[in-house]
Amino acid sequence: MLDVRRWALNVLYSMKRAIYPGSFDPVTNGHLDVIGRARKLFDEIVVAVAHNDEKQPLFSLEERLALLHQALDKIDNVRVAQFDGLLVEFAVAEKASAVIRGLRAVSDFEFEFQMALMNRKLEDSVETIFLMPKEEYTYLSSRLVKEIARLGGNVSDFVPGPVAEALGKKFAR
Ligand code: ADP
Repeated sequence: MLDVRRWALNVLYSMKRAIYPGSFDPVTNGHLDVIGRARKLFDEIVVAVAHNDEKQPLFSLEERLALLHQALDKIDNVRVAQFDGLLVEFAVAEKASAVIRGLRAVSDFEFEFQMALMNRKLEDSVETIFLMPKEEYTYLSSRLVKEIARLGGNVSDFVPGPVAEALGKKFAR
């Protein structure tokens, strides 16, 4: 019995796990593209939704989590979680060796570079890895999608079906 437990613990500890943090307000096809790439590199990806009250999200934490669950329902080795506080502390608690971030354009670079180096300073054991999405998603952001939906535009090319529906309801006139 003890051996089985030790074996299970070993498996758990040797799993290569990465955290993909963000607001996901709401999840877009760009996020899903990054997750698709990250899951090929790690045993498990934890998509971590930040409480992030500073940003005054359109969708509540519960709504953002539910939309992610729906979008990732049939995908192996991806788990959805929530966190508040320091990202690196969450990563250590989850025994993750890396943080995944998406890089769309040069405009993302400065902020991401600063964050990555600060996180390294705070916790040297967690490496930040940047992944670039498919070209067609490089101009896609949750902010833009919300703006289009707010103005009555069609967002179905940019987000999963349930997200388009949820946006439609939020901005129903
Ligand atoms: P944040 O609140 O941290 O900006 P987001 O939910 O907007 O969180 O994004 C989470 C991560 O996904 C960030 O690293 C962001 O750069 C990346 N990301 C967002 N949209 C895209 C996209 N279209 N392509 C690639 N990466 C993206």
